[in-house]
Amino acid sequence: MISPNDIAVRDGGPALYRPPPRDLLRVPLLGRLLRSRHGRLLGQIPLLLVALLLIYDGFTGSPIAPQNLATVSVWVHYRGLVMLALLFVGNLFCMSCPFTIPRTVALRLSRGGRRWPRALRNKWLAVAAFVGFLLLYEWLDLWAGPALTAWVIIGYFAAAFLLEALFAESPFCKYVCPLGTFNFVASTVSPTQITVRDHDVCRTCPGKECVNGAPDVLGCGTELFPPTLRSNLDCVLCLDCARACPYDNVALAVRVPGRELLESAWPRRWDLSFLVLVFAFAGLSNAFGMVPPFYDWQLWLSAALGITNELVLLLITFGLLNLALPAALGLGAASLSRALSGRAEALRITFSRFVPAFAPLGVAVWLAHYGFHFATGALAIVPVTQMFLNDHGLGWLGTEPNWQLGPLLPGGWVLPLQTIIVLAGFAGSLMVGNRIGRRDFDAPAPAVRAFLPWLVMLAGLAAAALGTFNLPMEMRGTIFPGG
Ligand code: SF4
Ligand code: SF4
Repeated sequence: MISPNDIAVRDGGPALYRPPPRDLLRVPLLGRLLRSRHGRLLGQIPLLLVALLLIYDGFTGSPIAPQNLATVSVWVHYRGLVMLALLFVGNLFCMSCPFTIPRTVALRLSRGGRRWPRALRNKWLAVAAFVGFLLLYEWLDLWAGPALTAWVIIGYFAAAFLLEALFAESPFCKYVCPLGTFNFVASTVSPTQITVRDHDVCRTCPGKECVNGAPDVLGCGTELFPPTLRSNLDCVLCLDCARACPYDNVALAVRVPGRELLESAWPRRWDLSFLVLVFAFAGLSNAFGMVPPFYDWQLWLSAALGITNELVLLLITFGLLNLALPAALGLGAASLSRALSGRAEALRITFSRFVPAFAPLGVAVWLAHYGFHFATGALAIVPVTQMFLNDHGLGWLGTEPNWQLGPLLPGGWVLPLQTIIVLAGFAGSLMVGNRIGRRDFDAPAPAVRAFLPWLVMLAGLAAAALGTFNLPMEMRGTIFPGG
């Protein structure tokens, strides 16, 4: 059994009592649906059916990516919609994740199963899996392969089930899943968060069912303890805690977006801080992989090193952009920050202090990139669906697919919108950095000096993102870019 006291200590001690003024679980009908015993299945079953359809079309449908449901839905729609959900509501994809449907079966198999190894109870494996997934995406051209995309979906189901069955918790979501890792970091800017209504009720609660579960009820799979929660990190928004609490004391509170980034309780951990930096830099490198200078760089690298193997070249490029660069710049900024502020403290503390400021800009860069594909290709789902129905004798009113459909917005709007998004993310990062400085330093001067190296890094990242979005970007998943 999990000891909530251990969790409280691990998470930085008990939270201050602040009853949530707005709780989505109290909204008539919606709250009741979400908290109902099978509430999560309302989102999971539709997504499971969609996943099965995508696997089917991925293997049997058109091998041309812009004409296949698997490639268009996953690489155009899923990525755009997940960003919008994270920004305006919260981690809705993890909440409705179909890969965790077999969890109950797997959990029964794992009863008495072993705990996830202590050495892996951190985000290093998640960083590796996240960067590894981006590498595979580029190397295998996943966006262009319907069958490969179907295999990715199957791989997710298999990995989630296997890890749930082998270990007596939810290590896949918390320590491995690249999608979950992405969602966890991005959800730090989301406007909702799990908390409790009354901390006094929790103090005297004997069973702590929200985390420990009960004979027929699951507790928190990622072992979060709602009364001490101050972050969306690791929360898959499954609401199992709300269903398990015998006092109906769990809340899904509406909060100021990104509030957790300003809290002193932000974990002072190398792994988590590095993950946030990698998230932000990977947003840029992922977009950079679709513009002409990326291919010029790969050609130059190949000639300079005499290497022709694409995987090795990508390993070098992605290793540099997603791991070496954030590590080197982050450690450099932290060392300078410590020297400029005159603080005698561990580098880990300095490194972790301003890293949360990278979340708003990182989210903005991902949104500008995924939003580009969504804005230029969302309507492609119409002809692709028509073609699927026609191929299966279910002709849609006898109409032929109109392959000109694709853009959701006029082409001329996209770059200005991307620019606004990146600048807004940069402004959000400056605001977070400024608030952290005011929080941790007694006077403005040392706070400004401490933030300065990070500010230069943020400005460089924002400028590089704007430069990248100003270049012609590969259209992936659509036939016609439209006007
Ligand atoms: S089960 Fe409910 S009352 Fe008990 S600790 Fe958890 S949230 Fe609080
Ligand atoms: S705190 Fe745990 S149980 Fe509650 S919604 Fe988040 S992941 Fe699910």
